[in-house]
Amino acid sequence: MTSTSRGEVVAQHLMALDGKPVSALSGHTYDSIDPYTGAPWARVPDAGADDVDAAVAAARTALGGPWRDLTATQRGHLLRRLGDLIARDAEQLAELETRDNGKLLREMTGQMAYLPEWFHYYAGLADKHEGAVIPSDKANYLVYTRHEPVGVVAAIVPWNSPLLLLAWKLAPALAAGCTMVVKPSDYAPVSTLAFAALVDEAGFPPGVVNIVTGWGPDVGKALAAHPGIDKIAFTGSTQVGRQVAKAAADNLTRVSLELGGKSAQVIFADADLDAAANGVVAGVFAASGQTCMAGSRVVVHEDVAGALVERIAGRAATITIGNPLDPDTEMGPMATDRQYDTVLSHFADARAEGATIVCGGEPVDDLGGYFVRPTVLTDTTPDMRAVREEIFGPVVTVSTFADEAEAVELANGTDFGLAGSVWTKDVHRAHRVAAALRAGTVWINAYRVVAPHVPFGGVGASGIGRENGIAAIGDYTETKAVWVELTGQTRDPFTLG
Ligand code: NAD
Repeated sequence: MTSTSRGEVVAQHLMALDGKPVSALSGHTYDSIDPYTGAPWARVPDAGADDVDAAVAAARTALGGPWRDLTATQRGHLLRRLGDLIARDAEQLAELETRDNGKLLREMTGQMAYLPEWFHYYAGLADKHEGAVIPSDKANYLVYTRHEPVGVVAAIVPWNSPLLLLAWKLAPALAAGCTMVVKPSDYAPVSTLAFAALVDEAGFPPGVVNIVTGWGPDVGKALAAHPGIDKIAFTGSTQVGRQVAKAAADNLTRVSLELGGKSAQVIFADADLDAAANGVVAGVFAASGQTCMAGSRVVVHEDVAGALVERIAGRAATITIGNPLDPDTEMGPMATDRQYDTVLSHFADARAEGATIVCGGEPVDDLGGYFVRPTVLTDTTPDMRAVREEIFGPVVTVSTFADEAEAVELANGTDFGLAGSVWTKDVHRAHRVAAALRAGTVWINAYRVVAPHVPFGGVGASGIGRENGIAAIGDYTETKAVWVELTGQTRDPFTLG
């Protein structure tokens, strides 16, 4: 522990390399800022490319070590134990995440309590990812497939849900037999460093999970471009996702991208408006809008738009904003100064472009920290910046439609395609519109629900690939076809097969 010039106690954390807690090779550190207080609260290693080299080397060595000899069932046992340890320490992990990213303790506590499910799900799946015996069209061959680990996986994770989004990668990757180099967000690294101790305690061999922290993009860049990485699993912004994909292309590294969103909540005139308004609040004001799946565009039938906006703005006015550690708080601060500035710039642009600010549109001045008010924008047009760009803050835009075709056109009028919802009591329309929305997830009369066994991911600017569910383990395996000649005879060497 050390103290800053402002007197706060700053806890020191170390990275995880080959099963050992280590500093950066340079010895440099940086401070993680508590977004509620705006003060440093934790000090972590500020690693560079040489640390990435060491972590990749450790992961590669571990791939050929005792880890390789474990059966899939044994890997499953380790994952199950890890899930149990997370359950044991869920409260502490939640608090670390809240201190680092300013999201509500009640949200992070819920996430941490649910997190073991990912480890238990993929623990069970580890020895069920079966190869196949393929009926051969040639009588003298037995043909079968094996699923082998892709190798060393780089997991690059954002700050908004550090351990949850890591689990979506790490649990299937370890179930498949891969080893890992993990790079948490520079803004929220601490829970991931604490998690390393649980990996160790669960009994994973050294080097199977390595964690590297560093300020700025350098560690991520070095990892994405590293020739020793076999797959990159990235979650973050679309802009950085593009850079990661380009770096991966140079080495022909496999890559999956979970990127940003601009998800539409489509609300028909027959919808239960109280439920829909509640869904909008859950979709964009919960987590202060700092969620990839934020339902940040309301697309509502013109006959009920006024009544819906009244309900949303009414609830926004009563949202308790404050200390994210307080159980009564409903909205915490923006996680970073960068996010805070981005949201304020959207307020200014929305005004300049002629949107009506029904509520919010300003910072909360009397709380310190990076607080902004929940904001509803009406009289919007599709070309406005707030309608086009992911804001990643508690800001919802409202546009209206006259019929179903226009609703679908407005909802799909975005480069993103992560999620969306349909609010209606008409079962035919519900499924019809769910099918027509260009998105990886659609909720009907609900919003913001995820589970380990349900695929999640986006299309277009929202990414490539799906996490969660049975198929996700296949992203961490290579399929090998094995042909066994059964007769022992020779054949014409100049013909195929
Ligand atoms: P970000 O893209 O700035 O950073 C994500 C990660 O990439 C961080 O660890 C960062 O340090 C690292 N990074 C930065 N530059 C890099 C580079 N050039 N090469 C490699 N790595 C680099 O995103 P963020 O601000 O941390 O997170 C918010 C974004 O994440 C939002 O756009 C949000 O929608 C998205 N997100 C998506 C999902 C999803 O599942 N689709 C989930 C959560 C968040």
